[in-house]
Amino acid sequence: MKADEKPNIKDLSAGEFADYLAAVKQPAYRAKQIWQWLFREHVTEFAAMTNLPAALRQQLDSSFSIGRLAILRRHESQDGTVKFLFGLADGKSIESVVIPEPNRLTICISTQVGCAYGCAFCATGLLGFKRNLTCGEIVEQILEANRSVSDGRRISNVVLMGMGEPLANYDQTLRALEIMIEQAWGLQISPRKITLSSVGLVPQIQKLMEQTNVTLAISLHAASEELRGRLMPVNRKYSLTELIDCCRNLPLPRRKRITFEYVLLGGVNDSTADAQALCRLLRGVPSKVNLIPFNPHPGSEFHRPADAAVKEFYQVLYDHKLQVNIRRPRGDDIAAACGQLQGQSQAELGNPLAQAASN
Ligand code: SF4
Repeated sequence: MKADEKPNIKDLSAGEFADYLAAVKQPAYRAKQIWQWLFREHVTEFAAMTNLPAALRQQLDSSFSIGRLAILRRHESQDGTVKFLFGLADGKSIESVVIPEPNRLTICISTQVGCAYGCAFCATGLLGFKRNLTCGEIVEQILEANRSVSDGRRISNVVLMGMGEPLANYDQTLRALEIMIEQAWGLQISPRKITLSSVGLVPQIQKLMEQTNVTLAISLHAASEELRGRLMPVNRKYSLTELIDCCRNLPLPRRKRITFEYVLLGGVNDSTADAQALCRLLRGVPSKVNLIPFNPHPGSEFHRPADAAVKEFYQVLYDHKLQVNIRRPRGDDIAAACGQLQGQSQAELGNPLAQAASN
């Protein structure tokens, strides 16, 4: 942060904000009022916080920013999916995708700029890691989406499955989850409706499931050590065996399942032998499998699987009594796989927030 930039108020922890209020001689109950304005009412200026004394509003304005994101691009797909490219104050950008369905409004959000994990099939992995998002930047993706949804609905479901590995940015992600879940002043989203997807960082998965009851999704994508090691370098640090053992022993509430994401790559991991290996691997793990036919992106060496291969793979899992879904690709016409809009846009776009910051 530059010396003349004010800190984003949404990045402060409860303890830090309590210290600030004490320092400016304000009662502690003001914190709840201010968080409600920010996270319930989605206000964009301190002047709008009308139940605060005018002097406090001015004090807040001179101490903090409200940390908005710039909407660099907003692409609406024919199926209603909306993809945002958001600009950050330092000129970097991230992606979020809003998926409307009749009974829920889901957002897929990012937790890092780029990603260090380099999965072979992933567009974000090609960008490399730039930096972690702050708690305020993670939550703001939901607030901006709520502000721009035209039918008056608010985001009901959140998936942390956009750019980056959420558990590699553990502390900021956990604080963002607390704001999402908080009933008294936060976004009031049930933890059952929040899914965090991890590439398989075993120690952090264990810690997360002790500290929250959000739904866990694992990016699996292969059922053998050899193939997973080729597709996902993280497998060299936390092997498939270690990861599945960890999943088997997590303290899950009754009937709660872990979601396993499996991108079907044509001719690579989509054979019936692969499906049978997956069934053996997941034996005894309370699981649900999402099969995701690969959506090719420019620069990728992988291909979409044949429709027949997808059906056969599904059938093997179904016959083994695994709970399995084929994820209908959403927003195909707007490049909805993670990292794609980013890749297209880097060369084409200016970022108004970055321009403001450099002025
Ligand atoms: S799939 Fe996830 S963990 Fe792997 S490179 Fe892409 S963003 Fe990172």
